[in-house]
Amino acid sequence: GSSQPPILKARGITKSFGGFRAVNDISLDLAASEILGVIGPNGAGKSTLFNLLAGALPVDAGSIHLAGKDLTKARPEARILSGLGRTFQIPRPFPRMTVLENVMTAAQNQLGEGLFSALIAPRQVAAQERTNVVRARDILDFVSLSHLEDQPAAVLSGGQRKLLELARVLMAEPKLILLDEPAAGVNPALLDLIIDRIHAINKLGIAILLIEHNMEMIARLCPRVIVMAAGKSLAEGAPEEVTRRADVIDVYLEG
Ligand code: ADP
Ligand code: MG
Repeated sequence: GSSQPPILKARGITKSFGGFRAVNDISLDLAASEILGVIGPNGAGKSTLFNLLAGALPVDAGSIHLAGKDLTKARPEARILSGLGRTFQIPRPFPRMTVLENVMTAAQNQLGEGLFSALIAPRQVAAQERTNVVRARDILDFVSLSHLEDQPAAVLSGGQRKLLELARVLMAEPKLILLDEPAAGVNPALLDLIIDRIHAINKLGIAILLIEHNMEMIARLCPRVIVMAAGKSLAEGAPEEVTRRADVIDVYLEG
């Protein structure tokens, strides 16, 4: 029981593909100070839940509020502008752009984009561009990628791509970040750094919803997890408690 109103309030989120119910009546309350883990076997509906929260897919039923604002029917771009950031299970940076350029493309430009604003407000556009470069460099420093800023993203390792994704999400000034398997494909040497950076992001007051199979990462970052199985929420609680439950162990063995 926190007195803080939740930053994310999702109620009854449901989605079917054909006759198959991939996400079935999921509700979440997430405080701004919180990191909530989402675990469960492959096919449980975790990534689909993220697609529904981020607006990549429309919900069949349910509602999504971020910081009190109803985003249930909002387009993905509007959700990003409202402070909802997400990373993908498989990062897709622009491979030929530099690391810095990749971060710059995630900036939320108040002046709008394109020829029109460049014609009517060239100075403001140039000033914003300079501000964006400074912010992008600060963020790259924060994720320890500064030394690679001029390299094409294609040269990055799996773990470095995850860090670049984090940088791109931070550039959009999120209130909540959905992280889909940030430890997947990451060299153990970079895992500590990624865990540390997620912790630091949360300390800045950014809420985090974390899908992860790596239980070390879950144990180190999440005081609380929900276990999804067959689209439903099966259990909720401290990671060391829920993973001891017989019904939770069963769905992992079945999966
Ligand atoms: P998880 O991330 O927990 O492994 P997913 O959310 O990716 O699970 O998938 C949940 C289920 O929904 C799976 O059975 C998957 O095949 C199915 N699914 C996911 N996306 C689609 C889609 N776009 N069309 C049809 N079925 C899908
Ligand atoms: Mg998934």
